[in-house]
Amino acid sequence: MTHVIQGNTGDWELVVGIEVHAQIISKSKLFSGSATNFGADPNTQVSLIDVAFPGMLPVINEHCIEQAIRTGLALKAKINLTSVFARKNYFYADLPQGYQISQYEYPIVGNGNVVIDMHDGSTRVIGIERLHLEQDAGKSLHDQHHSKSFIDLNRSGIALMEIVSKPDIRSSEEAINYVTKLCLILQYIGVCNGNMSEGSIRCDVNVSVRKHNEAYRTRAEIKNINSIRFMSQAIDYEARRQIDAYERGLQIRQETRLFDPKNGETRSMRSKENANDYRYFPDPDLLPLTLTQKYVDAIKEKLPELPDERKKRFIDNYKLSSYDACLLVAEQSVADFFESVAKGRDPKMVCNWMMGDFASAMKRMTRTIDNPPVSADNLGELIDLIYKNTISGHIAKEVFLTMIETGKTPTEIVIEKELKQVTDSDVIEVSVDSILESNTNKVIEYFNGKDKLFGFFVGQVMKATNGKINPVILNEILKKRLESLKVLFNEDNDLL
Ligand code: MN
Repeated sequence: MTHVIQGNTGDWELVVGIEVHAQIISKSKLFSGSATNFGADPNTQVSLIDVAFPGMLPVINEHCIEQAIRTGLALKAKINLTSVFARKNYFYADLPQGYQISQYEYPIVGNGNVVIDMHDGSTRVIGIERLHLEQDAGKSLHDQHHSKSFIDLNRSGIALMEIVSKPDIRSSEEAINYVTKLCLILQYIGVCNGNMSEGSIRCDVNVSVRKHNEAYRTRAEIKNINSIRFMSQAIDYEARRQIDAYERGLQIRQETRLFDPKNGETRSMRSKENANDYRYFPDPDLLPLTLTQKYVDAIKEKLPELPDERKKRFIDNYKLSSYDACLLVAEQSVADFFESVAKGRDPKMVCNWMMGDFASAMKRMTRTIDNPPVSADNLGELIDLIYKNTISGHIAKEVFLTMIETGKTPTEIVIEKELKQVTDSDVIEVSVDSILESNTNKVIEYFNGKDKLFGFFVGQVMKATNGKINPVILNEILKKRLESLKVLFNEDNDLL
């Protein structure tokens, strides 16, 4: 279904393309040996290359090339065996070279795609235009001094992948799902930590609007968004701004805008430069990058399982619904935890426990799956106890809470608290009889058609036995007992 935005002149369609800058996890920078640790003291991870001293020569970091290729393969994209580094010229205080080494006409990765998962269970394919390698710039710090700005060059030269989508995104929800899925893929293959608050992922969002079936109109680019929520707010604000302008007979300028989280608005930063403003040319310090197909194939061989493939395997092998599979694979360590518990057990039961009591305990205790409220082994053992009818599902919830409190294993708790479920029919019959005997009036009402009293009897037996009776066996015995009493009742019309 097409997403539309209502205006005074009819329906509008949103058109969004996203450029994601993703920092590559690498011990050293793209063209120098400097370290890349986040949070280091300013200007302590800077070499002569990173500050662009005269005569410096960049040397490409092979690890970063490999990571770009792995990412391209994970995006089902074409890997270009020849690519070229180019200088993108512009002046900025945190860019000592006066140019950024990037890739322009010949990027390392071409067309690919990302499958996004929508909340209704459907999927959509968003095209990838290209992925190229480039250097990050340094950081200008404007908030350290009332009248001075400072420059930290630790980030100068860190390897980035710029991943450019096609303008295939049609709503802010799709934009959120696209960036989320892209980050997930990067995390699965371990090329980027996907941490937006540390700036490992930064998004530039191109937004335009159009009437149905029209050619694309002028777009505005919103730069440097570092949170998914801000991105969604920026897109919605920008769409509304453009629609209002067109409907008042105004034109939209091609420009770069900034999103201000304080008031939820975008504002103009500068009119958008065209590519030729940057005077791109091939960097004479670097040879064209040539790869062999064999090298690429060897990397492909070693690519781990990706989120979409894992989701499919969860559906096929564990017979989970697409919804459950999606939730589990949405975090790699959650999916790992699930698989270690599900081994040799009923996967649906494991999934229900993880999404239910386990998830709410994690939330309540503000834990993550890497520091879970109970271990995978203990959760598995608890599920085994339910499966073998040692305890009921109801008692299991209580055991689970005690596991969290005491750190004991479920078996220890069941023994200590004498929670073992009663499945012996003789014992159950005795409890049933005693409840029926002390509630003869209710039994007569039941025979006279008040069917829902059956639940009352079950409840009374459970109460008297602290919920330890197996409910399936209890139902059977209670039904039989009531039936035989009914025969007597029909003969005498009296139970006494
Ligand atoms: Mn870029």
